[in-house]
Amino acid sequence: MASKVASPRFLSRGLGLAAERATCPTKSIRLATIPSQRSLLRSYRPAAIRAGQRRTFTSTSRRPLADLDHSVDPRQQYRESDQVDVCIVGGGPAGLSAAIRLKQLANEAGNDDFRVLLLEKAGELGDHIVSGNVVEPSALSELIPDWNSEDNPNRFEPVTPATVDRMRFLTKNRSIPIPAPPQMNNHGNYIISLNQFTKWLGERAEEVGVEIYPGFAASEVLYTPDGCVKGVATNDLGVARDGTPKASFERGMEFHARVTLLAEGCHGSLSKQVIKKYDLRRDCQPQTYALGIKEVWEVQPEKFQKGLVVHSMGYPLPSDTYGGGWMYHFGENMVSLGLVVGLDYPNPWLAPYGEFQKMKHHPLYKSVLEGGKCISYGARTLNEGGFQSIPKCAFPGGALIGDTAGFLNVPKIKGTHTAMRSGMLAAEATYTALSGNVEGSVFLYDYEDKLRASTIWSELKEVRNMRPSFHTPLGLYGGILYSGLEAYILRGKTPWTLKHAGPDHEATKLADQCKKIEYPKPDGKISFDILTSVSRTGTNHEEDQPCHLHVKDWDKHAQMEWPKYKGIENRFCPAGVYEYIEDDSKELGVRFQINAQNCVHCKTCSIKVPDQDIEWRTPQGGEGPKYVMT
Ligand SMILES: Cc1cc2nc3c(=O)[nH]c(=O)nc-3n(C[C@H](O)[C@H](O)[C@H](O)COP(=O)(O)OP(=O)(O)OC[C@H]3O[C@@H](n4cnc5c(N)ncnc54)[C@H](O)[C@@H]3O)c2cc1C
Ligand code: SF4
Repeated sequence: MASKVASPRFLSRGLGLAAERATCPTKSIRLATIPSQRSLLRSYRPAAIRAGQRRTFTSTSRRPLADLDHSVDPRQQYRESDQVDVCIVGGGPAGLSAAIRLKQLANEAGNDDFRVLLLEKAGELGDHIVSGNVVEPSALSELIPDWNSEDNPNRFEPVTPATVDRMRFLTKNRSIPIPAPPQMNNHGNYIISLNQFTKWLGERAEEVGVEIYPGFAASEVLYTPDGCVKGVATNDLGVARDGTPKASFERGMEFHARVTLLAEGCHGSLSKQVIKKYDLRRDCQPQTYALGIKEVWEVQPEKFQKGLVVHSMGYPLPSDTYGGGWMYHFGENMVSLGLVVGLDYPNPWLAPYGEFQKMKHHPLYKSVLEGGKCISYGARTLNEGGFQSIPKCAFPGGALIGDTAGFLNVPKIKGTHTAMRSGMLAAEATYTALSGNVEGSVFLYDYEDKLRASTIWSELKEVRNMRPSFHTPLGLYGGILYSGLEAYILRGKTPWTLKHAGPDHEATKLADQCKKIEYPKPDGKISFDILTSVSRTGTNHEEDQPCHLHVKDWDKHAQMEWPKYKGIENRFCPAGVYEYIEDDSKELGVRFQINAQNCVHCKTCSIKVPDQDIEWRTPQGGEGPKYVMT
């Protein structure tokens, strides 16, 4: 089972990219660099000044470690802090929509001093975003009505109207047309790259005066003495793998806010802490997830059908595994394709990455890809729990917005519009609460009410029984039949609400109870080995830092997982981060290895690891993938 450790070329390539980024002078939001978030902060000041906001950070001296008194542990040093009105964690569609709406409201009221600050762990906005993406423009058209207007010189141009919808059931060699449920009708929707869209939305946010800090990973939630959230802190930089400070050590920063909005996307690491602290899941079912693996191809012009939207079910996934493929033709000869695999799959031998490579060899996909070129790869988890799994979204001092709350509509495979709308609703509730001149902590009751009255609630409620219907003994076929009934006749009006089977990791069976799956060798033309794919993500992490995939005791982990699941971590990770390497010195004959530098931040490990002992923590800000067109 053992294989060699990850090639260091990814690290060097990534650092190369980071250096490239550091020298790019075109836009202030492109200035993030790995080595110093402080220098980023200083170079970013013009955005804040442009917005008429001249409040500065508290001025503690910024001395490098070499100048310090070594009897003092620098990690105990005072952290610089900044006080803002609203701090938003995560610069995806939810966080940026919330930020824009807040500043729109403040600017309309002539409240120029109202500070909205947004932290993003990626080096540039959009760098960590992976999505399909066919977007439903309802929320966007409310937020920025002229987003697509010919008269708007700053309109978002790279959009392709979705023109044709096709739904297929696949057997190994055949592709059978099946009716697409009404939810999958994409008339009026657009095919985009969400990664490009996020960059554009970031520019719109800057225009209205949002202070955006890419390259800042929020790693800690800060609380007031009476237990309300008072902001977040970023992690210390320049910490060695063994936890000791290096010469480049820089203390993290604190961002204090009257309201903190968590917009971290699916399975957010701070959101997880807040959900636990305030028991926000007390009245809902567990969240369930899927992993989406994606590639972007440039295909031969004769194979390109601009605006075509194809979805498939069936092959290559076994009937006990929920999921399906997509292929969207957009731009000029570009094709976005991918596979979504429900993480409640039972067979630990299954590898979502291997299934995706297999899928591309099906005639439906292969006929389009042959002769083309793969230009990008990415992977990210998505929420599948839907209506039943929505937690309480407001907590003392803040709220959860977007995918981190779980607003994705599974049958539609769309969450961008709900993420944006939830951000806008939270912004409106926040602005009203803060305008009320309240002293002390703020609780966004209004946000919860607005959510319940919104289209997010009604659309998720309508489709609530579809995903759990795949848990009957009929598996895939039962789910397809029941979902068809719901889509065309019942339309969510049934008095019952089906339950999810439980958290995804609990669905995993023991390896010796399941059929071993052997995946064909990639051909290097249509299918690729995992390291080639990772090289297309531009991912990088400095090697000498604490492992951001936190496992308390690697040996204990191996003793617990290997005998039961025979290396499931190696198979569920779409970036080849986990390995079991042959090692005669170990009782098991294998050694557990984490190649954290390859991680693409998809969060699958923290969701699927059977004994739940892998904790995904934020690495140094600015690290991780640098996605293109995903
Ligand atoms: C494979 C796949 C296909 C999809 N297809 C579609 C589709 O076709 N149509 C559609 O509408 N939706 C689709 N979705 C869903 C859509 O992408 C999401 O609903 C949407 O991106 C959610 O927006 P968000 O802002 O909540 O989270 P995200 O887009 O995930 O953004 C979160 C941001 O927060 C940052 N962040 C996270 N933690 C921290 C931290 N601690 N500190 C600082 N920054 C942090 C991340 O780097 C990221 O930039 C798809 C999703 C996937 C995975
Ligand atoms: S280590 Fe975890 S978060 Fe990183 S790519 Fe692998 S499964 Fe995803």
